[in-house]
Amino acid sequence: MKPIDVIEAMENNYPPNADPILREALDLAISALEKQIVKPPENKVHEKHKALGKNYYCSCGVMFVDWENYPTNYCGNCGQRLRGYYAK
Ligand SMILES: [Zn+2]
Repeated sequence: MKPIDVIEAMENNYPPNADPILREALDLAISALEKQIVKPPENKVHEKHKALGKNYYCSCGVMFVDWENYPTNYCGNCGQRLRGYYAK
């Protein structure tokens, strides 16, 4: 079962009348699983760092230096999966 399948199963069976603590736990689990779905860093010129030219940026804003030669599987800042098998 891929993370996206688990997320869909949780959302489709979400207990609207369950204890708020359980719903909070499910929301946290869903957001943690969403970080497992590959979201490659975006190659762009950052608005605040134009002098640096094009670089790779995570959706959280972290810049990866020399991504082509030194790719990493996860963002060290937010935990987002950047490459691997669990593409949507
Ligand atoms: Zn990040």
